[in-house]
This record gives sequence, C-alpha cells and structure tokens, in this order.
Amino acid sequence: MKTEGTDGLERFTSPGKGRGLRSTKHFKVGDLLLSCPAYAYVLTVSERGGHCEFCFTRKEGLSKCGKCKKAFYCNVDCQKGDWSMHKLECSAMCAYGDNWSPSETVRLTARIIAKQKMQTERSASEKLLLVREFEAHLKELDNEKREMNQTDIAALHYFYSKHLDFPDHAALTVLLAQVNCNGFTIEDEELSHLGSAVFPDVALMNHSCCPNVIVTYKGIIAEVRAVQEICPGEEIFTSYIDLLYPTEDRNDRLRDSYFFTCDCRECATKAKDKEKMKVCKLGTPPEPEAIQVPPSELLEMCELSLDRMGSIFEDTNVYMLHMMYQAMGVCLYLEDWDGAMSYGEKIIKPYSMHYPAYSLNVASMYLKLGRLYLGLEKKSMGIKALKKALAIMEVAHGKDHHYVAEIKQEIELQK
Ligand SMILES: [Zn+2]
Ligand SMILES: [Zn+2]
Ligand SMILES: [Zn+2]
Repeated sequence: MKTEGTDGLERFTSPGKGRGLRSTKHFKVGDLLLSCPAYAYVLTVSERGGHCEFCFTRKEGLSKCGKCKKAFYCNVDCQKGDWSMHKLECSAMCAYGDNWSPSETVRLTARIIAKQKMQTERSASEKLLLVREFEAHLKELDNEKREMNQTDIAALHYFYSKHLDFPDHAALTVLLAQVNCNGFTIEDEELSHLGSAVFPDVALMNHSCCPNVIVTYKGIIAEVRAVQEICPGEEIFTSYIDLLYPTEDRNDRLRDSYFFTCDCRECATKAKDKEKMKVCKLGTPPEPEAIQVPPSELLEMCELSLDRMGSIFEDTNVYMLHMMYQAMGVCLYLEDWDGAMSYGEKIIKPYSMHYPAYSLNVASMYLKLGRLYLGLEKKSMGIKALKKALAIMEVAHGKDHHYVAEIKQEIELQK
C-alpha cells in the first residue's frame, strides 16, 4: 500500500507478530517517521481548565462552555471545532451533575462511535491501518475483563444514549475490546496523564523492549521519531510498557494487556535483569502494597516501606525505585519540594542505567528535578538537569517541539 504522508514506511506481515510497520528507507536518530492526528480523543477530567478540550493547548485564561461550564477552549473556533464531540457530554453533564461518571474508556468509545458516523471515508489517521481492523483479542479476555466490558457498555447506554445511535451489543463488545488494546494515553513532558486517544497508524507498530522509535504528542497529534538508526527493511518497534522492570514483570504486563510474550533481544538475553533486581542481603522481599490512604499518611507509608525494603534491596533495585517514585509523587503533591528533590536525586542515576538511551521516563525525571532545583534556587544544578532533559527531548520530541522551546526559555531566564 503506497499512501501519502507515510513516506519510507510500509505495512507488512511480521513473522510471528501479525501485521506490523516496516521501513523502506534509512532513518537516523531523531528523524520523524510518522505523524498521525488522533482519530478520536478525550481530555481527562482532572486537566479541565488547564488545557483546551479541542486542541489540548495548555494555557491560562481559557474560556469555558457557557452551558456546562466544564469544558474550556482557546477561543470560539476551538469551541466550534469541538462541538460535535462535546455535545455528547455537555447536556448530560448538566443533567447528571455529580453523578456523571463515565470512565475515560467509555468517553473515548462514545467519541469513536460518533466519529464513525461522521467519517465514512478513510481518515487521515488511517493511512496504514483502519480502526475497524484493530485487534480485539475477544477470545483471550478473562472473566474480569469481560465483565468490565459489559459494565462499560452499560455506562455507554446510560450516559450517551441521547446523542448516539449504538451499534448492536456484539459490535460494542468488539469495539471496547479494540479500544482497550489499541488505545493510547497522551502525556505531557513530565509524563502527567492528559487524556486518551486512538491513533490507528501508530497502533500498527509492534512492541519491543529495545524500541527503535518513541511516540510523543504535539497537541492531539502523535509523532513517531527514531531513537536508533533504522535501515531499509527493518521493522519499526515502539514500547507499549514501562521498561524499568525486569523481563518477567514486563512480560506479565504484556500478556495481561496485549496478549503476547515479547521475544526481543532484551527479553532473550535478560541482560539488564541482574542490575535491576540487585539485593544487598538475603531475605524475602516485601510486596509493594496497593493502598488507598490520605497523601500525608501515604508519605509515611512510603517511607516505612522504603525502610523495610532498604534492608534487602540496593537503592538501584527497580522495586526500590518504584517506591521512591511514588514517594516523590506524594512529596510533589504535598509541596514538600526538598523531599521531592532528594527522591529525584536518588532515582535519576539508576533510571539512566535501567532505561534505554533515549527514554521519556529519564527525560521527565531530569525535567522534574531541574524544575525543583530552580524553584529551590539551585541555579546551576537546575540548568544542568534541564539540559540533560533537553538532550533526550530534542531527539524524542524533535528540536521544534513547543516543550523544547519552553525548557530552553526556562534556562534562558536563569541567565
Ligand atoms: Zn484550542
Ligand atoms: Zn458544555
Ligand atoms: Zn522484550
């Protein structure tokens, strides 16, 4: 298939992986391979007011929808542009008030159904893969996932019936399963969750734990850039998961969410596993517990867990890092900047070791740390950390990305 805007790329059948994306030309590190506008997308509820619902621009002083007072826009053009999607929720939010509570998956699915009604031809997001062609893995769903899908279908009918003509139950079951394994989450430069979307052409890429591309977002457009040299004929691989964790954990996650086991170089050699799981003494590792407690107590619990874990694990152990990352998040929430900084300092070195050379997790950690330093008037350390973030982001996001420009300006302001 030859299509405009996908120069140097082709869809093919990847041995053992089903369909995939392959290069037909040479790409060097930092080159843009693919740019894909969202087929459908939704801003997460907690980011309302900070970002435009239509174009995801982040700025102050957005204007709100006069009717529901919940959606915010850059201007009238963005509001008009968004109406075909926002009308699915605007009056329903007024009617249900605090009881309006569809999940983000449900919200996104409603938008896909609306879009499918409007868009009868192949969209600009589907040059290589159609939404209709998404894998659903219906047969592989366990009972819990099946029940979740049925709950989502009930929520769709409950919150969206006024403005949507639904396909039949079987088709809805397929669609929700498709959204679950092909949906993307959009994150900002510090990896905070901004929303959910489908980018069909981007979803064509298979997974590897040593990916040769990274996906970033410019508003509601997904961009795919090379983070390794790519030769003609090579398959394009992105990572579907957080690459911090050891091989077994990564594959548990891949099987649970995407129904396959990875056979990449990293999974075959397990080269980084030993470093990732370093222990200092023998003992039974305590399980990191999932807990729901107020943030002030959460920090205490994190500290307690870190203390207990610290007697067994090295500070570079990924489970220690996982816990320190949580603790840093709580510190940021509590505006305990010194606490956040000291966790960030412990995390960053092992992070750079465990993650691939170009990693958004590493870049965002340098960025958070750099901004903390600057806030605490540690100017030269701040600039140094921001420059480390920039070095990764200029490749992953591209030199002309607005995040890159913003960070450069933050550095400039210090001079
Ligand atoms: Zn806008
Ligand atoms: Zn509204
Ligand atoms: Zn792998």
